[in-house]
Amino acid sequence: MLAPEVETRPWAEQLAADDACYRTQLAYLFDRSAFYREKLTAAGFSSGRAAGRLADIAQLPLTNKHEIKATTTRDNPIGAHLCAARSEIVRIYSTSGTTGVPSYVPLTAGDLDNWVTASARSYAASGIAAGQRIVSTYDAGPFVAGAALAAFERIGLGHIPIGTGNTERLMRSIELLRPEAAVLTPSYAAYLVEWTAERDVALRGSSVKRVLVAGEPGGGEPGFRAKLQGGWGARVTEAMGIGDIGPSLWGECEEQDGMHLGARGFVHAELIDPDTGAPLEMDDGATGELVLTHLQHRAAPLLRFRTRDHVEVRTTLCRCGRTGPRLRCIGRTDDMLIVRGVNVFPSALREVVSAFAPDVSGQILVMPRAPGARQDPPLPVAVELARGATANRRLAEAIRERMREALVVQTRVQLVPWGNLRRTEYKSKLVER
Ligand SMILES: [Zn+2]
Repeated sequence: MLAPEVETRPWAEQLAADDACYRTQLAYLFDRSAFYREKLTAAGFSSGRAAGRLADIAQLPLTNKHEIKATTTRDNPIGAHLCAARSEIVRIYSTSGTTGVPSYVPLTAGDLDNWVTASARSYAASGIAAGQRIVSTYDAGPFVAGAALAAFERIGLGHIPIGTGNTERLMRSIELLRPEAAVLTPSYAAYLVEWTAERDVALRGSSVKRVLVAGEPGGGEPGFRAKLQGGWGARVTEAMGIGDIGPSLWGECEEQDGMHLGARGFVHAELIDPDTGAPLEMDDGATGELVLTHLQHRAAPLLRFRTRDHVEVRTTLCRCGRTGPRLRCIGRTDDMLIVRGVNVFPSALREVVSAFAPDVSGQILVMPRAPGARQDPPLPVAVELARGATANRRLAEAIRERMREALVVQTRVQLVPWGNLRRTEYKSKLVER
């Protein structure tokens, strides 16, 4: 543990400390953030004091990404939530932005340092330790992932940056430089299992004994994780962040039972019903959308920010000794489909299909027939067969039946030959419209 006194602090003590930071942060927002001064005043809260305690946070309005975006102007391309003076900003990241126009994420020196601290804790939870080497496969470039990579030095690791889409170079660096760990998306980790199998390269026998997956949901799904662990001969743990709040906020420990909040003290987490926005208790087994609040951010802090990540909560004690609720990411709220009132995540469909290995490759593609989330059954799902396997009605029927049992969803399963669904060296697209 990087900071045992922090990471094992009783959760009630953490919340008490967070409450003090939160009140200071609210006062700061009223003082410096045009966006939140206006938003909170419109909601009936005239000052930081009126907005109350951390325990009352659910009475304040939620923040959507597009709301912030709508306040950008030529004079202020960052947005009206910008609080710090130009001279205080030491870095400006941008997010990839599905709309084509990037969002800018400014940081003060203190913000950046807190990001690195939180990321270091979340990655170190995996068990990697000072003196070891880690190979990374992110093209950080303008993106917030760059700050997460700085966490490796903070942990005391030897960092080997390789970047995305250079598999030959990656495998050579593993062979020659013998890193103990690799960090990549779960899709790329799965791609490498296939890539090495085709070339008779022994991934299982490599120096890599820890695989840290992040950047998209799936790494915590038992079937998918088992496939990765088998292929790599390594322990696979998950980490998660959200660009606007912090690059790596959560990280799984060696118990592999949900991610701990490495950003504790910097970020407060809540759960809401994604449809109504109503707050949900962070009880064991609860699921909902993750909402995050900065507790000591300076450049452009966010309050009750909707992450669009759908998560499941674990509150049982973890044997590693870290305290506080843990999360497993189920999927992106944006990818969620609603089939006859039932929420369906593409990654959950993939998890069901992965149990049919070795008959299937594990690749799937959901092809909704209607625009938007709501779909009439049956939901069409293409399932790729294993190499050399041929389609048979009984297998398709068995997969369809298992999806109905596990997820209460009617699907139409189409088996497609091996190699028909696209592989990726970055993030998978599980839905095609
Ligand atoms: Zn743990």
